[in-house]
Amino acid sequence: MRKAFILPLLLVILVSYSEAAKKTAVKGLRYSSNKSHTRIVVDLNGPIEYTQNRLSNPDRIFFDLKNCYLPEKSPRVLAVEDGVLKTVRMAQFDRDKVRVVFDLMKVKNFYAFVLEKPYRLVIDVYAKNNRKPSPSSRKSRKALSRKDAYKIKTVVIDPGHGGKDPGAIGARGLREKDIVLSVGKKLGRILKKRHGMRVVYTRKRDVFVPLNERTQIANSSRADLFISIHTNASKKRSTRGIETYFLNWTSNRGAIRVAARENKISVRKMRKLQDELQFILQDLARNNKRQESMRLAHSVQNAMVNTLKKDYRQIEDLGVKYALFYVLVGAEMPSILVEISFVSNRLEEKRLASDSYRTRIAEAIARGIDSYITQSTLIVSPAGRHDWRIYSDGIEKSGDNIQPQG
Ligand SMILES: [Zn+2]
Repeated sequence: MRKAFILPLLLVILVSYSEAAKKTAVKGLRYSSNKSHTRIVVDLNGPIEYTQNRLSNPDRIFFDLKNCYLPEKSPRVLAVEDGVLKTVRMAQFDRDKVRVVFDLMKVKNFYAFVLEKPYRLVIDVYAKNNRKPSPSSRKSRKALSRKDAYKIKTVVIDPGHGGKDPGAIGARGLREKDIVLSVGKKLGRILKKRHGMRVVYTRKRDVFVPLNERTQIANSSRADLFISIHTNASKKRSTRGIETYFLNWTSNRGAIRVAARENKISVRKMRKLQDELQFILQDLARNNKRQESMRLAHSVQNAMVNTLKKDYRQIEDLGVKYALFYVLVGAEMPSILVEISFVSNRLEEKRLASDSYRTRIAEAIARGIDSYITQSTLIVSPAGRHDWRIYSDGIEKSGDNIQPQG
């Protein structure tokens, strides 16, 4: 067989060249346990192609990463033992292939995708029987809202970009990362002081935080809401306004463009990614997080537009939209991304530079969060006053007078 001769020859060539330069290194292995799934991240130093397979007896999943090598110092085993996964093991399967094996405990299904900057393979493994199927009846939705509303204590504030990533930059040089950090901190102070909430920031300084880490911060701090703050940008300088996003599949070209910019990938890749992540989006719909995120988005959007309209002219309401934002993928709580104004627009850049405008936006977002919570309470507590008063403690004292509808 010719193949038998070619293979040793290839090996000699490969050994004589620097392997690291030719292949992708599999650098690390991490995991995070979430309510509905366990996320495994395989850190890489370049793009990969892979195949996946599931085997039974014992139940396991494996991934073959092509044209990869496992450096000496990379981990070989990761003990997870969280009720979903036992262990994750990595080995150099042959010269070109690294195999990653998941030893499963109670797994329903899994989904894998590759993210960039830095390159990594992400595998979300979903537990069996973890969540009860949520019937789409009105009653069950109310029950969920009630549960969610009562526990809203912690809000994660995510000022976009930071560090080496300035985000969008205005004509006068105003940088998105600076604006959103300032608005985020203002929002945090308001939520803490006026609403008695616990606030967790994904960043409090001018530092770079990868997108998936931001979601992990939210999940591991057991946050109840996730608010990502950004400024918009458009090639068309006249475009201005305020819009709020939640995570969902979209065919809207404008929304895809915004998401591609925030995800730092091309529009073409954005469309491909959407198709790859169908599974995650379906799961989102099943566990009602999409519904809640949509409600939160409407509350915040309305509050921003109505508040700012009182003090400023030419406030444009671009409405609530949805698209696939990396930073929202995998969040276990209702989550939104607000685009507070266009830094690319002359008028809005000027406003964004002013402390008073930033304060007004922060106040408006806080008001939106508050009305989202209030609505949840009003919808779900027909018995009314008692529940309401317990809930309104520390959030909105004046709400005590409101009689919830039965
Ligand atoms: Zn941004």
